[in-house]
Amino acid sequence: MEIESIVANSALIKAREGGSRGRSYKWKEMLRFNHISQCMDQASSTEREYYSLCVKQPIGKNLFQLFCRSRPDLQNSVSLLDALDAFETKSDEERKDFGVSIIERFLMRKSMQCVHVVEKHEQSCVHSLQVDSCSDAFQSCRQDLHNYLSGEPFSQYQQSMFFERFLQWKMLERRPITKCTFRQYRVLGKGGFGEVWACQVRATGMMYACKKLDKTHVKKRRGEAMALNEKQILEALDSRFVVSLGYAYETKHSLCMVLTMMSGGDLRFHIHNIGQPGLDKNRVRFYAAEVCCGIMHLHRKSIVYRDMKPENILLDDNGHIRISDLGLAVRLSEGSLARGKVGTAGYMAPEVIGHKHYGQSVDWWGLGCLIYEMTAGKPPLRKKGEHPKAAEMERRIQNQPLEFGEKFGKSVKNLCSSLLNKDPSERLGCLASGGKDVQDHRFFRKVNFRMLEAGLVEPPFKPDPRLVYCSDLQDIDEFSTVKGVTLGETDCEFHCKFNTGSVSVNWQNEVIETGCFKELNVFGPEGSRPSDLDW
Ligand code: ADP
Ligand code: MG
Ligand code: MG
Repeated sequence: MEIESIVANSALIKAREGGSRGRSYKWKEMLRFNHISQCMDQASSTEREYYSLCVKQPIGKNLFQLFCRSRPDLQNSVSLLDALDAFETKSDEERKDFGVSIIERFLMRKSMQCVHVVEKHEQSCVHSLQVDSCSDAFQSCRQDLHNYLSGEPFSQYQQSMFFERFLQWKMLERRPITKCTFRQYRVLGKGGFGEVWACQVRATGMMYACKKLDKTHVKKRRGEAMALNEKQILEALDSRFVVSLGYAYETKHSLCMVLTMMSGGDLRFHIHNIGQPGLDKNRVRFYAAEVCCGIMHLHRKSIVYRDMKPENILLDDNGHIRISDLGLAVRLSEGSLARGKVGTAGYMAPEVIGHKHYGQSVDWWGLGCLIYEMTAGKPPLRKKGEHPKAAEMERRIQNQPLEFGEKFGKSVKNLCSSLLNKDPSERLGCLASGGKDVQDHRFFRKVNFRMLEAGLVEPPFKPDPRLVYCSDLQDIDEFSTVKGVTLGETDCEFHCKFNTGSVSVNWQNEVIETGCFKELNVFGPEGSRPSDLDW
C-alpha cells in the first residue's frame, strides 16, 4: 500500500473511533440556541401536528416527555409510554413477563400507577399476551394513550418552556448546510456522477458518507431528474435496512447527499476479495433476511428498487447491512407499473429484459441473484471468471435453466429457484402474501424476523474496526471534470430544489446519539423559563 493511502486510512480510523472527541472545540458555539424571541417565525411555520411533533421527531418526543414529567397528573402516562418503548426491545423470552409487569403497573385499577384512560384494555392485553407474546399486544392501548395525550396535554405543552426549547432546536436544525459543516476524510468510492467521501459533522462528531454529484456531469448527461429522484426517495424512507439521508446540500461544483456511514464495505468485496469466493451459510442467511426486510420496507412505500446486486449492499461497523444507491429506484403510483430496461447487466429480471411492464417482482429476482452469488461465489448463469457480453447474458437469463453446484444445500437451492423463477406471476415474493412468503421459506426458519426488524439479532460477522474496507486510494480513479458545460438559471432552480439541508428525524437522531442533546438541553433554576436566562 502506498504511503498516501496509509496516512488517509489512519486519519479515517482515528476519526471513526472519535466519539465526542470528534467534535470541534467550538461545538457549543456552533450549536448555540437563538433567543426565543428570534424563534417566532419558526413557531408560526411549525405545523401543530401531535404525531409529528411528539412521536416521530426524536427531539420533539424527548421534550414532550420532559413536559409530561413536569406535570404530576401526566407522570404515569409518560412512564407507561417508556415501558411500551422498552417492551419493543425485549427478546421473545423476556416479552411475556415484561408485558405482564406493564399490565400490573399501569392497567390495573388497584395499582398506584394506574393510567385510567387505558385501564379498559387490561383484559384484552392479558389475553393477547397469553395467545402470542410476540404480537403487538399493546397496540390499542398505545393508540388510546396517544389519543389522550394529543388533546389537552398537547395544547398545554405548546404553551410551555419545553416547546419553546423545541423551537430553538428547530432553528438549529434549519440552519443552512455548507461544506464548512463537515470535515472531509478520504474518498471511499466512485460513482457515475462523482465520488463518495468519508466526512464528519464538525459540531457533533458524527461520521457520514458524502455522495457528491458533479454539477457539470449531471447536466451533460441530463441526470437532473435522476438525482432529484434519488434524493427525494431517500428522504422519505426510514428503515434500518436502507441507508438514510442526513443532509442534502450544494457547493459551487457539486450536489451532495450525506448518507449513513457504512464502514464495513460492500458485499461484493466480502464475497470475492476475502478468502474463498462466497460466504458461509449463516452469513448468507443473515444478509438475505435483512435485505428481505429492506425490500419489504421499500415495497410498502410503493418503491421498486431495481438495482439489487452485491455491490449495492453495504455493511456498517457492527455487521448489519443496508441497501444503498437508490438512483434507479422508482415510486409507482397506485396500480401503475414501471417500464424500461433499467438495472445492471447480468442482474436484470427476465421481464425487464423483455421490455414488459413490471412491478416489485424484479426485486425478488434480484434477491435470488444475491443469495445465489453469496452461496456460489459467482453470479447465476455465469461460469467462474467468465464475462459474457450483455446480449449473451440476456439470452441466458431469458432461456437458460439454472445450475446449482455442490455448495447449495437443499433449502437454499429451493429458495433460489423459487426467487429466480423466470415467470414473475409464479415467482416467490410475487404471490398473494408477497414478501411474507419469502420470510416463511424454510431457509429462514431459524430467523426471528420480529427481533431482526427491531435490530435485536447479533450479526454473524463484525468488521474489524482497524481496517478500511475499500480500495486503496490509487486504485480509485480520479474523477474527471467536464469541459464546455456552463451552468445557467434553470440549473440553479434545480440545484435549489435539491439543496434542502438537514433531514429532520435524522438530524435529531444525530444530535441525541452523539450526546450533544443531553449536554446542551439544560434548563435554568427550577421554574425559570429559557427566555429568562442569557442563552
Ligand atoms: P452510483 O450511484 O454513482 O453508483 P453509489 O451510491 O453506488 O454511486 O456509490 C459509489 C461507491 O461509493 C459505492 O460503490 C461504495 O463503494 C461507496 N459508498 C456509497 N455509499 C456509501 C456509504 N453510505 N458508506 C460507505 N461507502 C459508500
Ligand atoms: Mg452504485
Ligand atoms: Mg446509482
